[in-house]
Amino acid sequence: MSEMNKKTVALTFDDGPEIGITDAVLDILEEHGICASFFVVGENINGETVKIMRRAHALGCEINNHSFTHSVMPEMTAEAIRDEIGRTDKLVYDAVGEYPRFFRPPYIALNSTMYENIDLPFIAGIGCDDWDEKVSVERRVEFLIGECPDGCIILLHDKEENVKTVEALRVSLPKMISGGYEFVTVSGLFEKKGITPQTDREIIYSFATVTGQMG
Ligand SMILES: [Zn+2]
Repeated sequence: MSEMNKKTVALTFDDGPEIGITDAVLDILEEHGICASFFVVGENINGETVKIMRRAHALGCEINNHSFTHSVMPEMTAEAIRDEIGRTDKLVYDAVGEYPRFFRPPYIALNSTMYENIDLPFIAGIGCDDWDEKVSVERRVEFLIGECPDGCIILLHDKEENVKTVEALRVSLPKMISGGYEFVTVSGLFEKKGITPQTDREIIYSFATVTGQMG
């Protein structure tokens, strides 16, 4: 494999932890010895799902913050925004002994109050609308294999009943690995690309670049 064909990307999953989906994703990751990042919703963390988070963490995955209630946050007060982040941060810390390093806004809905009150780098990503049940497994596979450039953050969902994404990963990951993809956490991606993610300006990252965008 030449250096030219190498691509380093971060697989990320939103809306879990979800019994039956997140653990199925972990089975596939473990089989291939790769890691991902999970942007969890605080409300979904309980005595059962915490075991899945611990397993993910033990496999080298990163657990990040996707709010507590998955609401439209630009409608919230500063205090409510801080509460959303703080509650989920604490639950993650209590579960895996490490605080989230990144935040992904629900629905990628943003405003200045959020930037002012959330002290984590903001992450978006590139996806194929895999939250939508109508998007076929074939389309998801096509996206994963063909539309994820070097340095990108791949946005997927380990949400309830999202078996199509699990199936798409089963098909795509072996092909991506043999095609030269290397999978790292979001932290690992920024490290690998030599970028320090910013929290003191209004920027949301889909790529590990200075601008957060490709090019
Ligand atoms: Zn979400």
